[in-house]
Amino acid sequence: MPSAYLDHAATTPMRPEAVAAMLPFLTDRFGNPSGAHSVARAARLALDEARDTMAEALGAEPGQVVFTSGGTESDNLAIGGVHAAGGGVVVCSAAEHHAVLHAVGAAGGTVVGVFPDGTVDLDELATAVGPQTSLVSVMLANNEVGVVSPLAEVISLVRERSPGAVVHTDAVQAFSWLDVAALAAEADLVAVSGHKFGGPKGVGVLVVRDRVALRPILHGGGQERDRRSGTHNVAAIVAMAAAARATVAARDATVARVGALADRLRAGLVESVPGAVPTAGTATGVGGQPAETAPRIAGNCHLRFTGLEAEALLVLFDDAGVSASAGSACSSGATEASHVLRAMGWSASEVGASVRLSLGWCSTDDEIDHALAVIPKAAGRLREAAPGWG
Ligand code: PLP
Repeated sequence: MPSAYLDHAATTPMRPEAVAAMLPFLTDRFGNPSGAHSVARAARLALDEARDTMAEALGAEPGQVVFTSGGTESDNLAIGGVHAAGGGVVVCSAAEHHAVLHAVGAAGGTVVGVFPDGTVDLDELATAVGPQTSLVSVMLANNEVGVVSPLAEVISLVRERSPGAVVHTDAVQAFSWLDVAALAAEADLVAVSGHKFGGPKGVGVLVVRDRVALRPILHGGGQERDRRSGTHNVAAIVAMAAAARATVAARDATVARVGALADRLRAGLVESVPGAVPTAGTATGVGGQPAETAPRIAGNCHLRFTGLEAEALLVLFDDAGVSASAGSACSSGATEASHVLRAMGWSASEVGASVRLSLGWCSTDDEIDHALAVIPKAAGRLREAAPGWG
């Protein structure tokens, strides 16, 4: 491990409870839960228990839980599945993850702008949503700047302007920090991903409420009540459920503890690095924030290092034992200029100077001490090499 792993929004280590829950299903309890014999039934039992756990954690009925291969598939199933079932126009915000944006693009949908804080522009949304709208997708918490959406307002706007439309929320980044069961209770579709909250990679859930007409995007054996075919990844599903249980049980304490660490990191960097500007919002989630800024999930610490190249900074950070990221990681490992920050109205140079330091359930004081010791030095070295900034 690096001395300070600050990229939990990209992926967070598995929780020990999840690893322990997973192991028997990689060895003795290897059955295919779709079968009828005792080995299959043992796997089925574990699958049913995991479904109950995920349903409770997400405020859904067990029959509304569809297991998927992760956040990307859940978002694609929500958007592509609703569009395939009923057509119409699908709508999302410009700050959505590519799993939503590209799925909306593939369905020929509409993208609406965001306010400077990264939340969806509700006036633009009101203009875009009408009787032709079949689905509106607005994320609960943003993966780059961590801002929390006013989902209740979005939902009431959609219900008023297009009663037949459904609302999907990508809660992939929210689940670690926010009570998704309560906040997304009125959403029709809710996506989460195991590896963002201490489960394994390659597993997730899409909650599909009963009123949603959905066509599968994967065809085959008819698992998940015909909504998602494919042999269940039982080990990963069981581990995700264990991680979800641990996350919910510790959530309030984690938000308080890690939120304080993120606050300390942000304040320390602003104080010690000339030109470091925090991205708007407060760190400690919902509550206590100035009215003009939107709330932000506790683990997010997003900053701009004015005049410095984030790409170069991240290399220096890595050399000094700090893992962080800029923009969003794409499959090649390179970083793309952030579409989120551009949508928020940032200039290309501001976008190129921004870094996301993201904390997680296992972040420690020592990691923050280390980051606060080495980041100012790295920024100083880069500033010397590029002294143009005034
Ligand atoms: N949605 C958001 C907001 C994310 O942050 C991510 C992952 O970064 C995804 C969707 C995709 O999830 P997965 O990695 O499970 O495919």
